[in-house]
Amino acid sequence: MEFTLFEVSTEPGDCLNNGTATTDDNDLNFFQADQNGFTVGGAQDSEATSAGQVSSGTVVVHSYDYGAYGKIKAEATIAGALGLARVDGTGEHFATVPLDEDDLVNQPKQHYRNNIADAWELQAAGNAGLAADDADTSLDNTHNGDGLTRYEEYRGVDINHDGLVSVGERLDPTRKDLFVQGVGFGGDSPEFSCGTACQEAEIRVHPFIGVVGTDDRNIDILPVYLNAIDGGHISRRGSPYGNGVRNWTFDTLGRSGVGDADAYATWYPCQVYEMAVNYYFGDRPHLDHMTWTAPAQWTGAPNGVLDPVNPERVEDTNDDGELQDNETDGATNPPLDNGDLFLDGDHPVRDGLAWYWYAGLSPMDLDNDGKVELPMQAQVPVPDSIEAEKAQVVRAVITHEMGHAVGIYGPWDGHCDDQTCAMYRWSNSWTTDGHFCADCRAMVLIHNN
Ligand SMILES: [Zn+2]
Ligand SMILES: [Zn+2]
Repeated sequence: MEFTLFEVSTEPGDCLNNGTATTDDNDLNFFQADQNGFTVGGAQDSEATSAGQVSSGTVVVHSYDYGAYGKIKAEATIAGALGLARVDGTGEHFATVPLDEDDLVNQPKQHYRNNIADAWELQAAGNAGLAADDADTSLDNTHNGDGLTRYEEYRGVDINHDGLVSVGERLDPTRKDLFVQGVGFGGDSPEFSCGTACQEAEIRVHPFIGVVGTDDRNIDILPVYLNAIDGGHISRRGSPYGNGVRNWTFDTLGRSGVGDADAYATWYPCQVYEMAVNYYFGDRPHLDHMTWTAPAQWTGAPNGVLDPVNPERVEDTNDDGELQDNETDGATNPPLDNGDLFLDGDHPVRDGLAWYWYAGLSPMDLDNDGKVELPMQAQVPVPDSIEAEKAQVVRAVITHEMGHAVGIYGPWDGHCDDQTCAMYRWSNSWTTDGHFCADCRAMVLIHNN
């Protein structure tokens, strides 16, 4: 009795991204140590022959690729004549490895003969279909497909770089797959994390571990960098100063080039400015001075929070760190002051012409709890819902810049006019990273070249 493997796949590597692209070895063979009573031979160990006369036989097929496929036939010499076995059920002279039959019963078919294991096709709606289809969809978007065929999605990507294609690393052929990699995050900075805006738009985001340029054969990686060099301090906005609310702003927190149909973040890498983020949280130009107790009186101890300009609890009503005439006139009309030449109440401190960043309190964090407020608030108490920790801010910036990197470039200088969207043209909230609006979703271009 002799078994032969033939028409065996020769996929390079062992899955979509791992291994070299040049090997042409068969993906299935008979491995001698696996066999009992059969001797392995033939080209690339494709034949297994019984050692003597048998009435039945079993061989073990070894697979070297997560997308391996081929055919196996059995021959026997019976009474001097060579016979080719038929397979029960199909009547064919070969069996498929793995089992890969055409569904002749159901409509629509639940499995196809397409070099994809029927077991996988039966696992989830959408897994069954033609091998070459690439018709993944995402919400509010007409650019169907993600550059990976059904067979490729089945063959799988070693996303976590453990050398295996595990459950979940065979992909969903109905959903676009976006592979991202955070570079430089962690340590003293928040870990890489993105909001659920992509997920909500039915795009799968996979944090890819592995070397970009080596382990990303057949897939496209969007690297998101934590830039440790660029980014400036918070700053006082505009002149004339103030409008009753302290008017400070943070420096640009991130930037990305816009993606197209072939590449992510073209012309400029997707990045978060670490220093700008740190200054946003760390700059504390306001002195926690004696606390207002009654009109024109500051006799209370420092209270640990930044007191408001309106209602008037500080003398420095234009928030510039300097004592102007109208802040020393002793008038009983606003601005109310006590007429002395000291700046009473909380105020920012200057170091020459520059702000002194270590005075104690931040206009971004009025209640001084380590979380910044957006939109900026006039006074404490601050509602929990508008405060954000550093990790949340970084996640929101990552999500926004990733949006640009995958092709979102709206009419408002690249942004949209939907304030619930992560791509809104103003920084209005750190809690919108779970949503892209329909206009923004429509621009997303996911590809794998
Ligand atoms: Zn933007
Ligand atoms: Zn939008």
